[in-house]
Amino acid sequence: MSLIAIAPLRARKLRNARDSATDPRLIAWRSARRASDAGALDRMCNVCGWHGAEFAAPAHSEMADCPHCRSIARDRFLYWCWTLRVPYDPSQRVLETSPRLDRRYRRRMSKLVDYTASDYDEDAHKAMIKLDLQSMSLADSSVDVVLTPHVLEHVPDTARALGELYRVLAPGGSVILMTPMPQGVTAPPKEPEYHGNNTLVYWRFGWDLRDQLEAAGFRVPCPVPQPLLHRLHRKEFDTGWTAPDIDEVDLLSHADPDALTPVADERDVQRYGFEPDLHFIIWHCTKTAQ
Ligand SMILES: [Zn+2]
Repeated sequence: MSLIAIAPLRARKLRNARDSATDPRLIAWRSARRASDAGALDRMCNVCGWHGAEFAAPAHSEMADCPHCRSIARDRFLYWCWTLRVPYDPSQRVLETSPRLDRRYRRRMSKLVDYTASDYDEDAHKAMIKLDLQSMSLADSSVDVVLTPHVLEHVPDTARALGELYRVLAPGGSVILMTPMPQGVTAPPKEPEYHGNNTLVYWRFGWDLRDQLEAAGFRVPCPVPQPLLHRLHRKEFDTGWTAPDIDEVDLLSHADPDALTPVADERDVQRYGFEPDLHFIIWHCTKTAQ
């Protein structure tokens, strides 16, 4: 390795050490440290702390698997937004709806915070409690943080689910909400649409999801990768990236860049695999402290 390469490597190691010194959520798992390539920080997993030369699958929100904890890119972006935007508190009551990751992750979360994993259909995985977002069997103000990745699009009554999330959230709390954003304006699928484990999609969300979140009472910053924000400002809506399930030009031409918050710079995007940028739009819904 050349001296030129060593300097930024050291700087990054120092930065990571500094972050994990103040936030236990960023301390690498012992097993991930052992599995990492000591000389390569090209790709990193912020969930388990693994680092190496390449992820185990190509760039995509549903891929770019961490070879150690098996997080996919959207798992890492959700964790990124939680750790970046919500200060660490070991007494924090965290509810995660339908987490993908296995018991190693759940065990780690339980050590970090007061953690509950919920599930609804219990087909793909079984969590600690069964929960219907439209009718949550939880007391008012009983949760400080909800992490909810790719669930809301599978719930028929969005307004009811958001009302329930607002009710169970404690004042000052946060819902980190991730859904696919395949188009500019929310609509039901034209044809029956299913995700992964044959779960029916009721809604294809667009930017107007913000109106529904605000109507439920939330304040709603919308974190996105910085490169996405830059190209929105430049009105570069078409990268030629095409996929049958996302209309890039429709989605991005409806965006209001002034309403978005950058959370990962170009180097973070490349290192943690937040690519393609348009897959990483998240809603940080907050309930005003009383
Ligand atoms: Zn990992």
